Amino acid sequence: HAKSTTKGSYAIFDAQLNAAAMERLEVEIELRQALELQEFRVYYQPVVSLDDGRICTVEALIRWQHPRRGLVPPSRVIPIAEETGLIIELGQWVLEEACRQVSDWQRRYQENLSLNVNLSARQFRHAEIVNNISVALHNSGLKPFSLTLEITEGNLIHDPMETIAKLRAMKKLGVRLAIDDFGIGYSNLSYLKQFPVDILKIDRSFIRGIEWDPHDKAIVRSVIALADAFELSVTGEGIETEEQAAQLRALGCNHGQGYLFAPPLPADSFETFLEKDRQRARVNGYGQR
Ligand code: C2E
Ligand code: MG
Ligand code: MG
Ligand code: MG
Repeated sequence: HAKSTTKGSYAIFDAQLNAAAMERLEVEIELRQALELQEFRVYYQPVVSLDDGRICTVEALIRWQHPRRGLVPPSRVIPIAEETGLIIELGQWVLEEACRQVSDWQRRYQENLSLNVNLSARQFRHAEIVNNISVALHNSGLKPFSLTLEITEGNLIHDPMETIAKLRAMKKLGVRLAIDDFGIGYSNLSYLKQFPVDILKIDRSFIRGIEWDPHDKAIVRSVIALADAFELSVTGEGIETEEQAAQLRALGCNHGQGYLFAPPLPADSFETFLEKDRQRARVNGYGQR
């Protein structure tokens, strides 16, 4: 009796496993097709200077323009692309597309506009990543110092020796490096001393409570102090209110990103934003930076 029950539950387990594997396989096939059919889009979100509100940087954020399901967010794409290895191709596409786009915007709008691109764990560890970055720069004509690669803390910690070697090889290309979602990944700060990074991006979970949660505010203040000590630039992520921006400014944070300034926008809408930014600069007499 017991035997058949066990057998039965194995069958159910098997069926569930198969269903999950099937679904993953289906999504993988779908993602491959989407790449072929050019259904992916790069959206652009500005990073502004908190001093004068002007755009310094754009972050490239992937979207899947699905013919029936509409705009699919990265949270539904990146993990599967990461698991299946498709992230290498997809990530390279984002990198090349965004480099090409920003190189064009530099010519037409603002010559010191810079670009941030996210690198996933698997992309970062890929043997060809340094070469792939160099190819994207070469093909687009974007200068290396105009490109920043964003890497999350967790990805850096994985294998410190290999990580340091890789980060150095990237720095040798002339690109800049940012730690994304800083503060949520790891409590061990000693690696900041060894990793040749340029920018810390404070995770938006700490910005959310900055007005009313003294702990969040203390964390933000500490990250900014840390950045100062290491001579890093610091960006607050997920700024949604004027008050949050004011608090960050008062704490000495240089840069900000969030819905208060603009959500991630498709390229054509972003051009409108760049145009407005340029006009505002003219009115305020900041001139072309
Ligand atoms: P991230 O790199 O930390 O990007 C910031 C995320 O915060 C974006 O979500 C952005 O839309 C969102 N955000 C910006 N401002 C605000 C705000 O004021 N409030 C709130 N609530 N959210 C805000 P998104 O576009 O859904 O991307 C999510 C994550 O997916 C990214 O987090 C990044 O880790 C990953 N990702 C996106 N594009 C790529 C890509 O091309 N390659 C890789 N490897 N990862 C990507
Ligand atoms: Mg990012
Ligand atoms: Mg982030
Ligand atoms: Mg994030």
